[in-house]
Amino acid sequence: MIQASPSHCDTLVIGAGVSGLSAAYQLHQAGKAVRVIEASPHAGGLIRSHWEAGFLTEAGPNTFPSTATEILDLCEQLRLEPQATHPNAKKRYLYLNGKLTALPGHPLQAVTTPALSLFGKLRALQEPFQPRTRTNDISVADFLENRVGKEVVERLADPFISGIYAGNVAELSLPAVFPKLWQWEQSAGGLLKGARQAKRASRHSNTPKKPMQLLSFAGGLESFISALVNALPEGTCHFGHSVTQVEVTETGYQVQLHTGELLTCHHVIIATPAYTAARLIHSLSESGSNALQNIPYNGLAVVHLGFNKADIPHPLDGFGCLIPRREKLPLLGTIWASSLFPNRAPEGQVLLSNFIGGAHHPEIVGWPPAKIEQLVLRNLQTVFKIPEPIQPTYSQALIYDKAIPQYSLGHLNRIQTIEAELQKNPHLHLCGNYLHGIALNECVKSGLAAANAIIDPLK
Ligand SMILES: Cc1cc2nc3c(=O)[nH]c(=O)nc-3n(C[C@H](O)[C@H](O)[C@H](O)COP(=O)(O)OP(=O)(O)OC[C@H]3O[C@@H](n4cnc5c(N)ncnc54)[C@H](O)[C@@H]3O)c2cc1C
Repeated sequence: MIQASPSHCDTLVIGAGVSGLSAAYQLHQAGKAVRVIEASPHAGGLIRSHWEAGFLTEAGPNTFPSTATEILDLCEQLRLEPQATHPNAKKRYLYLNGKLTALPGHPLQAVTTPALSLFGKLRALQEPFQPRTRTNDISVADFLENRVGKEVVERLADPFISGIYAGNVAELSLPAVFPKLWQWEQSAGGLLKGARQAKRASRHSNTPKKPMQLLSFAGGLESFISALVNALPEGTCHFGHSVTQVEVTETGYQVQLHTGELLTCHHVIIATPAYTAARLIHSLSESGSNALQNIPYNGLAVVHLGFNKADIPHPLDGFGCLIPRREKLPLLGTIWASSLFPNRAPEGQVLLSNFIGGAHHPEIVGWPPAKIEQLVLRNLQTVFKIPEPIQPTYSQALIYDKAIPQYSLGHLNRIQTIEAELQKNPHLHLCGNYLHGIALNECVKSGLAAANAIIDPLK
């Protein structure tokens, strides 16, 4: 029972992840009465920072870039100071042919990088002469294979996509995942030409250029969530209440909770994953609901392992490493968390945050945590050449059977259908990571956009 509160409010936000909380904060700042209903006992959705045995671990995201204007703007309003990663974080490694190889940090270093063979480099250099894509959707693998060759796909794009989406390059839609590359090809005729044009345009803009950094907070990303929740009036967020149904009424919407309790509101913002939103809007729009249901999600396990620093025969002088599928290890990648920020591991120890499962190994998320931890440890022994008797000093496994929405072929059409259906329900809004980007800043943007549509519907 949602106690001591009226059963009606102006706007109900369903879901207290970063998307829903950004929407709620914006509405509150505009003087609107808002209530947030969250199924789990805590705010943040995928964002949770956990202190244990001197380690600070992240359940989901680790960082956001300094180009994340909307997050930084909110940080300023909330008086929250981001913490920059160590300058070494610019360096990224690839596990290739049984060795950790630093990736080129600058396009010119691509000429000397051992990450590509001479043949691979020569093929990539032919990019400007490749024909433009003639279809209106294409997979990341097909697009890049045409433009820069198969080797770039296998050695660079595949691990990059695994690292961000836990996805499959052959299934994801290039226009949905990399809209900028698509635009460069379609408008300028190629990636190199498009990149050059974009660089020239940015030289003429007045925005001061600062080098990009990756950021978090001294207390982890959850600090951002706590600051958003604390900025809302007490009693705004109701945890442990799952919404089961949303129905239209003469004056707005009626929302049913798992307890059977009914709440009414003028506007509703659904900020849940797509598969839940599909269920909630089914009685309002069958085609919108079907389009939401057709957004696939991949499972993923996040395994944090602590080690004595002296036991890892590598300086860990970078952000982390990615592992292409051709190396035949199920591990997708590892973030060297204690190399990024000073307070992530006790003195003399290191924290490696590992990602395993995804599109290529969906079965792993069905395993018991101890078995997953063992597999990750074996993979780390291979990657870092850690001698076998060495055991982690700390371990923690988090398993998500539906972690990340996949922008698979047809994604942009699905989103168009969903948005067209929403036009028919002007007081119903959706936001979340399945719409226009999975990165945190895209989630914040989608939350702000949903709130702004209520604050200023004519804009
Ligand atoms: C392992 C991992 C690592 C990542 N790393 C990064 C990174 O480093 N940088 C980055 O930018 N992005 C990263 N991402 C992506 C980013 O974390 C997510 O896209 C983002 O957190 C999603 O936020 P959201 O609010 O849209 O959804 P969610 O966080 O999923 O929030 C949805 C909320 O809705 C609630 N809910 C669901 N059903 C109901 C219901 N019926 N009633 C009420 N509430 C309900 C849920 O409990 C949840 O709290 C990562 C993602 C994962 C999984």
